[in-house]
Amino acid sequence: MMAAMPEVDRVAASRAAVAARRARAAIKAAVVAGDRSALDVAETAWREPESAEAGIRVPELLGSLRGMGPARVGEVLDRLGISAVKRVGGLGRHQRTRLRDWLRAREGVPGRGRLVVLAGPTAVGKGTVAGYIRQHHPDVLLSVSATTRSPRPGEVDGVHYYFVDDAGFDGLIERGELLEWAQVHSAARYGTPRPPVEAALASGRSVLLEIDLQGARQVRAAMPDAVLVFLLPPSWEELVRRLIGRGTESPEEQARRLETARIELAAQDEFDELVVNDDVPRAAQEVVDLLAVPSGGARPAGRAGSAR
Ligand code: 5GP
Repeated sequence: MMAAMPEVDRVAASRAAVAARRARAAIKAAVVAGDRSALDVAETAWREPESAEAGIRVPELLGSLRGMGPARVGEVLDRLGISAVKRVGGLGRHQRTRLRDWLRAREGVPGRGRLVVLAGPTAVGKGTVAGYIRQHHPDVLLSVSATTRSPRPGEVDGVHYYFVDDAGFDGLIERGELLEWAQVHSAARYGTPRPPVEAALASGRSVLLEIDLQGARQVRAAMPDAVLVFLLPPSWEELVRRLIGRGTESPEEQARRLETARIELAAQDEFDELVVNDDVPRAAQEVVDLLAVPSGGARPAGRAGSAR
């Protein structure tokens, strides 16, 4: 049995608890407002185990970030192998490393362009959203893929795709010129040319890749600071309607694409951001927000630390 706390100690302890709670709330508010980065909060927690930062629960810190509702927070915690009751200061070494990497990737590097991958099931409208961004945000580089499939009516070589034959595609792979590549719908091969992407990012220009799920996974492995966006249909029925409605593929091809879409929808939890394509300009704006080059942590300091 524990001895009862003397009255004065109890009052002091509850005052201290109130103060600590206020301090944690102020830190979260600063992260919500974008005045302080979550990474900075975590690093402070790990440097100073007695700090208010150390006492913040991990889900609360993640929940202070834009676009992170409870479901996304749960998915990220699962992916990082961190229990929802953990406080930032109480994380183990490997958990810290995983959280640090995740936060760094999310925050990006000042002065470097952001790489955003737009994936999602067939016919969800990735191409339409990407096309809208190409038209309205020419500052963003929309990567032009190489493909072995033949052009559809209206498609222009070098604009929509680089149309190459099998030998040409093999050459791109052999020379290491593709950032990622995949065979899509068990048919043609598609790949992202590496040099334009790297040049753009280094010059501070953001890049959008509109690719399939296998490609998105390769980009995650090759470039951990890429932001993976999964475009969702408003509903499965709507997806089927859009898929069949396009009418440019044979019934066998449609069935194959439907099956791919089912598998792809199940992969949404692997993504950093989910965007519902209910309205193209709105969905595009969400993606454009993610393409914004970070100013570098806290706002005023970030500007000072960015270029010079
Ligand atoms: P489509 O033939 O309809 O233009 O494209 C079929 C699929 O290929 C789409 O899901 C599209 O996202 C994907 N795709 C287009 N370019 C690339 C690429 O460079 N890499 C990968 N992995 N997939 C791509």
